[in-house]
Amino acid sequence: MRKNIVAGNWKMNLDFEQADDLVNELAEKLEELDIVPDVIICPPFLYLELTSDIAQESNFFAGAQNVSMFDNGAYTGEVSAQMLGSMNMDYCIVGHSERRKYFNESNEDIKIKVEKLLANAIRPIFCCGEVLEEREKNIHFDVVKKQVEESLFHLTEKEILNVVIAYEPVWAIGTGKTATSEQAQEMHAYIRSLLASKYGKDVAENISILYGGSCNAKNAKELFANNDVDGGLIGGASLKAEDFIAIIKSF
Ligand code: PEP
Repeated sequence: MRKNIVAGNWKMNLDFEQADDLVNELAEKLEELDIVPDVIICPPFLYLELTSDIAQESNFFAGAQNVSMFDNGAYTGEVSAQMLGSMNMDYCIVGHSERRKYFNESNEDIKIKVEKLLANAIRPIFCCGEVLEEREKNIHFDVVKKQVEESLFHLTEKEILNVVIAYEPVWAIGTGKTATSEQAQEMHAYIRSLLASKYGKDVAENISILYGGSCNAKNAKELFANNDVDGGLIGGASLKAEDFIAIIKSF
């Protein structure tokens, strides 16, 4: 069965002391919960050692926000999948819309990153989603199909089962404007149908598809209640332990 997952994307936020406080508070609060979905915490690179050390003894998984397309070598400023593996990363976000927009990441670049991660036993959290103009033109399904096909459909059945997909309509990220429960379910079911047509129904049923985009303690329950929504990728609301825990408790 596919897993319920709540992943926190801290983006480029918090100084070291704040990061230290937040991860320790989360670890403590997670201990107190009975049934929890898989929780993943993705801080900036500098804090990976901190979160990964605490994750070893706690109830959450360690994740990163990005990975280099290249293997170790002369690529100043980059961080390779091998390095993330050596830091015990379980997951890594790839293809986030902010990376597509500000760093011109293409579907092909993301395909390579997915391969590097899988080769180092790190599960990619693959982000896809349309911008507002594409939804208004009613081409959002085509856009997401292209992203999924071009970055993931070269994978084997065994490999795709290690990928988590996050549908993140770009117009909903950090805007306070959430997709309706119906809009989320409709796109998630569509993504699952794409996976089923390529890999078969059994495989598609076993891949977690998360929703991301202004998901918070108030709307998480309704979003997560949908058949094809297996949890959330949370930005802003993952920066406060109380809010993030409330989202985790929304299943
Ligand atoms: C994100 O960055 O993946 C995200 C979903 O952000 P927010 O929750 O702040 O919209």
